[in-house]
Parts: sequence; structure tokens; C-alpha cells
Amino acid sequence: MTDWTRLIRDVPGFPKPGIVFKDIMPMLADAQAFAAAIEALAAPWREARIDAVLCIEARGFLLGAPVARALGAGMVPVRKPGKLPGAVIEQRYALEYGEDALQVQADALPPGTRVLLVDDVLATGGTLAATRLLAERLQADVVGAAVLIELGFLAGRARWHDAAPLRAALTL
Ligand code: 5GP
Repeated sequence: MTDWTRLIRDVPGFPKPGIVFKDIMPMLADAQAFAAAIEALAAPWREARIDAVLCIEARGFLLGAPVARALGAGMVPVRKPGKLPGAVIEQRYALEYGEDALQVQADALPPGTRVLLVDDVLATGGTLAATRLLAERLQADVVGAAVLIELGFLAGRARWHDAAPLRAALTL
């Protein structure tokens, strides 16, 4: 199968000085690499009876929607504030400087729905932890989380809990 990992590009100084950003766009633009990356993300969960994939804005949408299709699951977007219509629930979380928030529609999932969380990169882990809290507030059954890339040196995994597996297709 195509080695999709060679199409992940380092962009030094983005979005601010001192950060080396992992750019997944060249991988997405390559048909075979994109297919291989989606397969790598979805494969561990094929027998997990996932009902819905919670996809985290914005690059989590690009990966989570095809993962949902591969698993025969629905997809539910988790978005920055002000983007989703109707009643929402919100989870705030700390950033290095300041805080941010994520929202999901309050009626997005019936209680007990088996969900998989999908995002592109696990860095400090705050985004994924906040999404897990949103899922738990909806009384979903969090089966696990799948990220394309885990930045191991940032130890974001420590902010996940052990009750459900967190799987990375690539750890750097
Ligand atoms: P965390 O909350 O784990 O610190 O940051 C993860 C979030 O920031 C993810 O939603 C991810 O999209 C974004 N992110 C952080 N660093 C990178 C990076 O190097 N590359 C990409 N593509 N996204 C990143």
C-alpha cells in the first residue's frame, strides 16, 4: 500500500514562530495516499460497531467523514463556537495562552450511541479531551479516538483516559 506518511510536510514557523506544523494537505491531494491514510485510520475500528464519528473542526472533518463512510457510521461535526445552528452544548478548554471552546448540537446523538472521535493531529491533547467531555455530556458511549498523527513529544496522550483506546496511525 502507498506510503502516505512521506506526504506529510513540515512547515517551520506556522502558525507562529517556534512551531513546526505538520501539513497534511499534500497527502490529501494524492489519491492513493489519501486512500491509504483513511484505511490506516479506519482499519483498527472495523469490528468496533461504531454508530457515529465525531469529527473535530476543521481537518478532522476531512478525515472523519471518509472514516465514517468506511465504517458504515454517521458523522457528527464538533465545531468552533457560532458555527452550528440550533441548541448546542459547549466545552471550554485551555490553550497554551488563553482558552478556546468547541460545540456540538445538543440533539446530535441519542444516549448510548457508540462514537469514535477523529482528528488529524494530537498535540497537547486539549482538543481531544474537550471533545470527549462533549460526547460524555451527550451520554454517548466513547469507544475510542483515532488521530492520523500523534506528536509524542507533547505528551497529549496523558490527557486522554484509559477507559477507551486512543490510536494514532503515525507517531512522531
Ligand atoms: P491539541 O489540542 O492536541 O494541542 O491540538 C490539536 C489540534 O490542533 C488539532 O485539532 C489539530 O488540528 C491542531 N494541530 C496542532 N498542531 C498541529 C500540526 O502540527 N498540524 C496540524 N495539521 N494540526 C495541528
